[in-house]
Amino acid sequence: MDLGAERALRLDIFDALKNLVQERGGAVTRADLLDFRIDGVGIQLIDRNRGIRNPKTFASTLSIMSKPDSPYDDAVVGDSLFSYAYRDGPIDAGDNVKLRKSAATQLPLILLRWIKVGGDIRYVPVFPVYVVADDPANRRILLALDESVRDVSDPQHLTATERRYVQRMTEQRLHQPQFRSRVLLAYKNRCAVCRLGRAQLLEAAHIIGDKEEDGIADIPNGLSLCKIHHAAYDRNLMGISPDCRVRIGPALAEADNEGPILKFGLKGMEGVQLTLPDKKSLRPAQDRLAKRFDQFLAVGPSTRSSTISGAGIDIQKVNSIPLARTFPLN
Ligand SMILES: [Zn+2]
Repeated sequence: MDLGAERALRLDIFDALKNLVQERGGAVTRADLLDFRIDGVGIQLIDRNRGIRNPKTFASTLSIMSKPDSPYDDAVVGDSLFSYAYRDGPIDAGDNVKLRKSAATQLPLILLRWIKVGGDIRYVPVFPVYVVADDPANRRILLALDESVRDVSDPQHLTATERRYVQRMTEQRLHQPQFRSRVLLAYKNRCAVCRLGRAQLLEAAHIIGDKEEDGIADIPNGLSLCKIHHAAYDRNLMGISPDCRVRIGPALAEADNEGPILKFGLKGMEGVQLTLPDKKSLRPAQDRLAKRFDQFLAVGPSTRSSTISGAGIDIQKVNSIPLARTFPLN
């Protein structure tokens, strides 16, 4: 296969993988990667035994796997770009040949980040990434996680400005998707408030915001929320009490005549008990909820008593909403 055809095939793989990743909530299973198919043709995206996937017909490496907690991990950008260690053994034999060749071919590849939540192991694919330098002296390659990062002056010695930019990219392309995937996996791809189970519509909310010192990207500081409930929570229109109940703020509680999302999706959630992970260690940390709830209360709590149970929505009422009038179809 010539390099042009290989590049085109890789782009097709990325398109198909992007759809799969969205469907799955950000992370895929090992089986997804082993049984990956494109137009009916199987193309394995992960090696059965090793961290580097080198398909026979490919000129350079297709995917590399990295464990965030392995001793080789240096996702935290220092003076250089994200680095990935060669395999043990000679630097000019085995998997290292095609890995190092990636710097010359400039073909985009997939970085698979290994995650474990409870007992579940998944992979968060980050792609396309590019090998911008081969560093045999340190037995590593240097990766750009974003196309624009490829143009740094010296991948091994970033300037202060470049480092700031690369750190931001690392946050966006690596850490945020990992956080989202881990939280969604813990909550089995459900909104903790309304139980919506569409991964494409779910996000990971921080309980303590990531701009704050203790706003760590860890599952006990996260909540799996649909986009509406995430936005409402972030803006303190909706709060979560330390005992994991939904509180609707006065701005929404007092609003009216805005249709079913307000009536059922927001006001109807008052008092609802969150749907949480089975494992206690994955549930929201109570002290974090409390600290955040204080911020919500400072905005102004709902004065209504909360008696609505988690079962929540009255189907009779839902059916009686004049949908045709509210959402004209033509
Ligand atoms: Zn929701």
